[in-house]
Parts: sequence; C-alpha cells; structure tokens
Amino acid sequence: MTSKYFTCPKCHENTPFKSMATDRVELERDKGEKLRVACDHCYEQMTVHVNDIKAAPNKVIAGIGVAAGVAATAALWHLGFVAWIAGALPVIIYGAQRKAADTFNSYSIRRSE
Ligand SMILES: [Zn+2]
Repeated sequence: MTSKYFTCPKCHENTPFKSMATDRVELERDKGEKLRVACDHCYEQMTVHVNDIKAAPNKVIAGIGVAAGVAATAALWHLGFVAWIAGALPVIIYGAQRKAADTFNSYSIRRSE
C-alpha cells in the first residue's frame, strides 16, 4: 500500500490523502471522480480530480522494512550470507513500494468532461 497525496494549487504544498486504492480506477470507484479535499497547509477547501491524486512510497512500510532488515541482519549475522539477504530486505520492500507508486501514477482515468 502506497501513500497518496495531492498538491494544493494555491500554496503548492502536498497534503496526504487517505486511500487504500492501488490505482486510479479503484480510487474513482471508491471515492468518485471528483474528490472534496482540504489543504493541510493553507486550509483551502477544493475539489480535485482523481488524476490529481499521486502515489508515493509509503514511508511507514519502508521504515518497517528497514527495521526488519536491520533486526534480521543482526539476528542472522553468524550465518554469514543469510545476513546479506536479510540486509537486502529494505531495498526489496522499498523497490516494491516504488513500483506500486509508479503503477498508480502511470495510469490516469478518462476525464468525463
Ligand atoms: Zn494549500
């Protein structure tokens, strides 16, 4: 699951948008084509299109991946090569997050107007 956000057209800051959707088709089905949102920074209320929602690697999941990788590396250190595989865990998890974000961002839905 990736983090979603939109960029405020007024102050150009990013505001997180809570959604479990893996692509914009799912997001539209879930929340509709137009989304009523409020900017976290200037508090402006606005309507954004599904295509304006972007995905980014989830920092929490990436963080858990790093923590798990470090813990597993430490726990498996005496096994040598296995520790190296465990050390690659954060890279693999971040890579999967990056890929999921790219998948989301690469597909835009057809605008109805
Ligand atoms: Zn704003």
